[in-house]
Amino acid sequence: MLKIRFLGGVRRIGASGILVDTEKHKILLDYGSYPSKKPDFPLPVSPYEIDAIVLSHAHIDHSGAIPLLYKGAKGPLLITTPLTLELSDLLINDMIKISGNKLPFSKTELNKMIQHAVPVTYNEQVELFDGVRVTLKNAGHIPGSASILLEIDGTKIWYTGDINLTNTRLIEGAEIVKDADYVIIESTYAYKDHPDREKEERRFYKAVKELVEDGFTVLIPAFAVGRSQEVMCILWHHGFDGRTALDGMAQTATSIFLSYPEYLRDFLELKHSARHIKWMKSRSQRRKMLKRPGAVISPAGMFSGGWSEWYLRQIYNKEEAAIIFVSYQVPGTVGRKILDEKKVVLGGKVREVKAKVDFFELSSHSGRTQLNKIISSLEDPQKIFVVHGESDVAESFAKEIYEKYGFDAIAPYPGDIAFLD
Ligand SMILES: [Zn+2]
Repeated sequence: MLKIRFLGGVRRIGASGILVDTEKHKILLDYGSYPSKKPDFPLPVSPYEIDAIVLSHAHIDHSGAIPLLYKGAKGPLLITTPLTLELSDLLINDMIKISGNKLPFSKTELNKMIQHAVPVTYNEQVELFDGVRVTLKNAGHIPGSASILLEIDGTKIWYTGDINLTNTRLIEGAEIVKDADYVIIESTYAYKDHPDREKEERRFYKAVKELVEDGFTVLIPAFAVGRSQEVMCILWHHGFDGRTALDGMAQTATSIFLSYPEYLRDFLELKHSARHIKWMKSRSQRRKMLKRPGAVISPAGMFSGGWSEWYLRQIYNKEEAAIIFVSYQVPGTVGRKILDEKKVVLGGKVREVKAKVDFFELSSHSGRTQLNKIISSLEDPQKIFVVHGESDVAESFAKEIYEKYGFDAIAPYPGDIAFLD
């Protein structure tokens, strides 16, 4: 009998992992880690028993545990888009650099993982094993991201991964697989709607423009993969003509994106904005950038390392500076403390942030209405599993699906096994 075992990323966000067991083969959908000082992974599986892993996208909470599958064993086939493969290599390498000795794997396993990859483009149906087919569909989350359609002897299992239906500057919105029998859906923002995308983009552009014109240095901490480039394109698209700089790993990610034009909505927009922005290479260049008004886009997005931390130390106590957040700040992070309390701990002391602080919601996940749109588009699902959301959010979304649409829906716990008939 076909079984799904939920290994992680259920009743929480982080360390995603779903095991599909066909009785003949075991296939993993994502195997990520939880971004914290002490690495945290989904429930363990034996690397000897997994036949294939399908990866939805490069974010560490979906990819960061995959090297574990190549410890000792030959390791499974890795199915993902070529862009996700390259970005995962970049991000996992960075993870090894940051928390190397605390991790249960090293570059050896990462290299083995890359060697086992079978790059697959969107909508290209691949016969994994006899009677088992996999198709990747655009998920609209970050460039290269995919939702996963598994067909096992005619039964269709659709895993959304992280999904966004709205077009962003970088990529087209996601495709919905309407005729799936079983659906595993994310629920990050099932409790709320995002503001209108275009309006929020314009509001963000106007805020940065006005601040820079008023003589401010604007620091935009952003994730290296996706958000940095999105912000860069928004500013370029609206004709921002102030000084702008791009720093850290966002530079490498931009170069990778530019070598995969087929995954971008508007390749030329990214190319031109990348050419227009200053690429920070040295400390003296960075200091020079901060001397006159301008905007700096730099990872990490929550100040958990990277050059954004360095910029923060230079500008936090300046009244002619601003920190503009463009993504959700996880409680307990440096970013969240600045956003909530305008305080930062430096050198063991709590210090007041004199720079202006603002937040714009440029999410790459579907909001409440869009998640409902996905559910209402489904033709006749047997069961829906709600994952990748805080426990109460996932639980109430599952309840809502049942009450509104009459579909059988649950929010599984880690370790739960679902038997599919
Ligand atoms: Zn993601």
